[in-house]
Amino acid sequence: MTDAAPLKLFNSLTRQLEEFQPVHPGEARVYTCGPTVYNFQHIGNMRAYVFADTLGRALSFKGYALKHVINITDVGHLTSDADAGDDKMEKAASAAGKSAWDIAKFYTDAYWADIERLNIRQPFQWSIATDYVPRMIEFAKSIADTHCYELDSGLYFDTSTVADYGRLARAATEDGEGRIEQVDGKRHQADFAIWRKTPAGETRQMEWDSPWGKGAPGWHLECSVMSEALLGMPFDIHTGGIDHREIHHPNEIAQNQAYCASDHSGARIWMHNNFLIDRGGKMSKSTGEFLRLQVLVERGFHPLAYRLMCLQAHYRSELEFSWDNLAAAFTRLKRMVMGVTNVRASASMAEGVEHPKLVELLAQFDTAVSEDLNTAVALTCLDEAIAMKKVDTGQKLAAIARMDNVLGFGLMTLERANLRVRPNDTTITETDIEAALARRKEARANKDFAASDAIRDELIAQGVEVMDGDPLGWDWRLTI
Ligand code: AMP
Ligand code: ZN
Repeated sequence: MTDAAPLKLFNSLTRQLEEFQPVHPGEARVYTCGPTVYNFQHIGNMRAYVFADTLGRALSFKGYALKHVINITDVGHLTSDADAGDDKMEKAASAAGKSAWDIAKFYTDAYWADIERLNIRQPFQWSIATDYVPRMIEFAKSIADTHCYELDSGLYFDTSTVADYGRLARAATEDGEGRIEQVDGKRHQADFAIWRKTPAGETRQMEWDSPWGKGAPGWHLECSVMSEALLGMPFDIHTGGIDHREIHHPNEIAQNQAYCASDHSGARIWMHNNFLIDRGGKMSKSTGEFLRLQVLVERGFHPLAYRLMCLQAHYRSELEFSWDNLAAAFTRLKRMVMGVTNVRASASMAEGVEHPKLVELLAQFDTAVSEDLNTAVALTCLDEAIAMKKVDTGQKLAAIARMDNVLGFGLMTLERANLRVRPNDTTITETDIEAALARRKEARANKDFAASDAIRDELIAQGVEVMDGDPLGWDWRLTI
């Protein structure tokens, strides 16, 4: 634990840095809006979870006992963030000819696999929206008379019944409300459904009985209910992508105000990561082929290269995706792994860090992390630690381990061999590759260049690129 620098975080509510003061001393309670599991997550979505994970790791580093909840939205999210369109789950299910429950399970598992590949720590709880529907109905009942009205299509939240609606989006001063679609009979444009009735004569795959008829909860209601149920209100930090600052989170805040009969926002600090953008348009799920982690892996990139690429930028800055940027991050990761492997080989970890140069570097690292998660600077501290000379190696390893706990690469166990990812369609084994390379080396030693070239061509045909003279000593890599 280090307590030198106070932890400052950017609160979207106040649009400024604030010193973190936990609601419950010694604890940090964090809720992260999770995926809607109607499709795979694209790498932009995964940036949101790398950010939330880094926040959680930073809170642990600062000594707080972390209670982190990430939800899984398996019902209720319409194709528009406001009240228009179909339920994403139902739509995906009917397109695939499968049940909405099967679709949810399949894409939740795929999401969890990506979480693991990016070294995102398991939260205290994954909360699944459909597990909480009875509680959502109770929540809605408790605010229905005072804050809601009923239309044929559902139960709507009257946004004029809470103080300062939309303060998070700055809707009054910016054009946050402009995107909300009109629904017949709504009292105000920004009002939103907290229960959507199944239209007469229709049956939905996912529907529940309620005092307002058969139907399904609104997406915004889910997050208010699950965060309240698992973290209590007010809790410390609520996170999500920057798009949620405009509609989803202002609506959660309005519900929280109504439910708590208080003007507080449910969470004290609202934090938003900026977007990963791709000028090639591969970040939109509606365009068919979109960039997901598996696509990077199939091109030979280790998932942690993507994690590193995210951490090289500040979470509040837009980050532009490019293969060059990813390749540069991968090279940096390889250097780190090679550096740390050497340190690990030459000493076992010391219990403490006392050398003044290392103590100073850890303090710099702490300052960077504490300044609204400045991971770009934190990474340079890690690089410096790895390169540092004339310090006790065991202590150096201990300092690296502390930094790595925050940055999350798993450098204490990661090996060079782990970084060689295997595209789906390669069948050649590592033993075969190494054996072929040994034969090639021998041929070259004997100046039999024809044989050496033939071995190389054979390897290329099997998807293996031979990397002679690679400055990192990387002998080969798998390609597609
Ligand atoms: P969804 O599954 O659509 O609810 O999105 C999951 C998370 O990803 C939310 O926190 C979004 O705000 C976030 N998100 C969506 N697109 C991007 C992007 N291009 N870059 C970063 N975060 C994103
Ligand atoms: Zn949410």
